[in-house]
Amino acid sequence: MEKKEIRSMNYREVQQEVAALGEKAFRAGQLYQWMHQKFADSFDVMTNLPAGFREKLRAEYTYTVLEVVQRLVSKIDGTEKYLFRLPDGNVIESVLMRYHHGNSVCISTQVGCRMGCRFCASTLGGRTRDLLPSEMLGQVYQIQKLTGERVSHLVAMGTGEPLDNYDNFLRFLELLTDEHGLNISQRNVTVSTCGIVENIRRLADEKLQITLALSLHASSQEKRKELMPVAYRYELKDVLEACRYYFAQTGRRITFEYSLVGGVNDTKQDAKRLVELIGAMNCHVNLIPVNPIKERSYVQSNASAIDAFKNKLEKYGINVTIRREMGRDINGACGQLRKSYLDTGAAEEIKEGDAVV
Ligand code: SAH
Repeated sequence: MEKKEIRSMNYREVQQEVAALGEKAFRAGQLYQWMHQKFADSFDVMTNLPAGFREKLRAEYTYTVLEVVQRLVSKIDGTEKYLFRLPDGNVIESVLMRYHHGNSVCISTQVGCRMGCRFCASTLGGRTRDLLPSEMLGQVYQIQKLTGERVSHLVAMGTGEPLDNYDNFLRFLELLTDEHGLNISQRNVTVSTCGIVENIRRLADEKLQITLALSLHASSQEKRKELMPVAYRYELKDVLEACRYYFAQTGRRITFEYSLVGGVNDTKQDAKRLVELIGAMNCHVNLIPVNPIKERSYVQSNASAIDAFKNKLEKYGINVTIRREMGRDINGACGQLRKSYLDTGAAEEIKEGDAVV
């Protein structure tokens, strides 16, 4: 019989399993605490559980732990980038960003990605598989354990499309925000999506207090198709309608991500169309100067184009920020660290940042 995977179970399920094994009810709380608050690396270290119980746990369940392959610390801003090895040998990356409001971890939600956005390094090799809830949690747990600092914020903006791994992602959110676990506030969680319409609506109906970030990147359906193949499946007007529905259901202001690509989507006309498209919504626009990847010819917009774009939106009362680039010296762009690792078969040599592991 195949072993069950215990670290993706919620509190109630763990209680049921413990009862089924014939153990006392309070053991479930102890076990859950080892898994989700003390970040135990195996059943063996759960020393306040009886040896016989631990024996049963080993026999019945697999215990998911992520192995740190590489840890890079930026000398510029303290950002840390991690490569983790999953139990099946696949490798994923995560980022820790230090802000005045707390430490934020950016997690991957899939091994690779199948969405195909033209400017993104994460999707170049396609999707290998979805991550389990425990593998999303493991990224946060290892980072908190290694730094010894509390992780208070989470963004699902690493490799993968969270809403293409919907059920596992939702379970992950449940465990992450559970008071028996890390107990991160829903309001400190942001999920970024390329716009899987039916799942934005499903998420809205969950009525969580998390922030939805929509990767817009274009101001018309035609332009969006050029940059994001997912636009062939969903019309821009339907994506925006789903965003309005999300706001109606949750009261949470939508964030629109707009990666500025030189000469492609950064013109005056683009800014004007964008104002017409979202000007009436309760939203916030995050402009991201595109991070060029060597496999594509896209270039960053120049500083004056970025300013003009921002000013145009602000003139019409839209709230805008320009995403500050972090960890420039440690392969900061999405999916680039993992990709260079896979390309060379080894952790690459880092010239400026400090390789810690
Ligand atoms: N699948 C999710 C998460 C992706 S990464 C999504 O599509 O939203 C988070 C953001 O970074 C997305 O808006 C994505 O489009 C953007 N992004 C990816 N590669 C980029 C690059 N090279 N330069 C700028 N933004 C990029």
